[in-house]
Amino acid sequence: MSSVSHDPQCIFCKIIAGEIPSKKVYEDEDIFAFHDINPWAPVHFLMVPKRHIASMAQVQASDAPWLGKIMAKAPELALQMGCNPYPEGGFRIVVNTGEEGGQEVHHLHVHVMGGPRPWLKG
Ligand code: ADP
Repeated sequence: MSSVSHDPQCIFCKIIAGEIPSKKVYEDEDIFAFHDINPWAPVHFLMVPKRHIASMAQVQASDAPWLGKIMAKAPELALQMGCNPYPEGGFRIVVNTGEEGGQEVHHLHVHVMGGPRPWLKG
């Protein structure tokens, strides 16, 4: 199995469970979104599946529903969090995967970034 309901060692599982505080952006039965603690852009939040899955490298066809839900919800949340409308505005979605992909927290997370430039990175 590629995912488990909760990994007690995982910082993002602890955030989802409310054991570590976060600034919540959105929550439903499958996904959780919260502000990045160290933002690279004026708007920067993370979207994660509630089930613990380490990265995009473990994603299988059966994960399409929650992954699709994250991607379909991101534009709405981006606007709600202050990104400007497309095409003058917009946002960037990044999913770092593995050491060479720059992933530091091993619970799959989708970075959503936007707002007026310049940004800290990129
Ligand atoms: P990178 O740190 O290179 O961006 P990741 O893609 O794994 O690597 O991103 C982890 C992200 O999680 C970072 O942007 C970091 O600021 C964020 N983060 C770490 N701990 C917390 C926390 N407690 N609350 C909110 N965001 C966090």
